[in-house]
Amino acid sequence: MNINTELLHAGVVRDANGATFTPIYQNSAFAQDSAEQLEKIFENKAMGYCYTRVGNPTVTSFENRITKLEGGMASIACSSGMAAIMNAILGIVRSGEEIISSASLYGGTIDLFRDLEEFGIVTHFVKNNDWEAIEAAFNERTRAVFAETIGNPCLDVTDVEKLAEIAHAHHVPLILDNTTATVYLFQGLKHGADIIINSSSKYINGNSNSISGIITYSGKFRFDFDKYEGLSSYKQYGSMAYIAKLRNSFFRDTGACLAPMNAYLNQLGLETLGLRMQRQCDNAYELASWLEQNYPDITVNYPGLAGSLWHEIAKKQFSKGFGGILTLRLGSKERAFRFINALQIPYIISNIGDTKTLVIHPGSTIALHSTQKEREAAGVYEDLVRVSVGIEDVEDLKDDFAQAIAQS
Ligand SMILES: *Cc1c(COP(=O)(O)O)cnc(C)c1O
Repeated sequence: MNINTELLHAGVVRDANGATFTPIYQNSAFAQDSAEQLEKIFENKAMGYCYTRVGNPTVTSFENRITKLEGGMASIACSSGMAAIMNAILGIVRSGEEIISSASLYGGTIDLFRDLEEFGIVTHFVKNNDWEAIEAAFNERTRAVFAETIGNPCLDVTDVEKLAEIAHAHHVPLILDNTTATVYLFQGLKHGADIIINSSSKYINGNSNSISGIITYSGKFRFDFDKYEGLSSYKQYGSMAYIAKLRNSFFRDTGACLAPMNAYLNQLGLETLGLRMQRQCDNAYELASWLEQNYPDITVNYPGLAGSLWHEIAKKQFSKGFGGILTLRLGSKERAFRFINALQIPYIISNIGDTKTLVIHPGSTIALHSTQKEREAAGVYEDLVRVSVGIEDVEDLKDDFAQAIAQS
């Protein structure tokens, strides 16, 4: 099946009453017929539900749909994209061990990696696609490589196959945050990534109504249980060891579960992901090209533009479009603020992936806690404005951008 059909049908199970997808089980706990049965569920010896912090049918159906779409073995839905990243990391990296990460990350992830230092987990930030620097960052303590498919808001594009090849040569998994590309543009597991992160708060949900995240595991990376000591007690689960560890340790212990209502809303969103993403890619391409042609004093950054440093990699990896986000450099912070304030259609908001066009000045908001050096490595400058393009009529966006530029 092709992707738009899969978005509607893959992994969907009709419930006993004929509901065409799993209804909202707004329940905290699930009764069983006997003490023995509940014991079995607690011991992972029987399928079934006990408590929504551990699992819930509506959440399971969201997980199964994402697993099918990504082509993975299993997924764990979390309360946010950040919870997904934290759990994905804590499943394999222990105190005294290290991560190698692209420096051009979402600000919240940079903050998390810095906070993990308090617990003895060190992250080496390297320039994305700088293979020599990445090679040089490995040592015997390295346990994971981390990158974003399209950096937010840097908009650099990771050469995923190449990065996976290097990670695997060192027997370390690649964790790929695919939030900005989504499975519609790119199936990371098919290109060598081992663990996919989606902040489903963004494009998957599509309407900004549910903070949520999800981890998907390929089932293919062979963890060496001597090296990954934290996984050794899950050895009996074989290729499911990583997922078993995730579900039975920090995810459950920290209460990182997704609310059933949010799992339901994300499934509604998922069904139109392809329609929205295609339109957003087309609109972003049109807007970026038009801005580049008409406003030589503004630097337009979009992987779809032939002049982008990342255009060749983007073309190789994405066949349907180049994503829904572009950034503009307007020369100064003051002009960037005047431009943002003059726009009529977009919302000034710290989000991406909505049906509506959204704008933000990253330097004073999402990258606020980053140092100057971290900001520059993440492609954040004082004069930078990020635009998450929506599904509006692009002519209206052009008119609005034209009047706002004229006023700035
Ligand atoms: C938003 C975002 C996150 C964090 O997700 P939340 O759902 O806000 O916790 C992680 N990575 C990227 C690329 C994001 O855009």
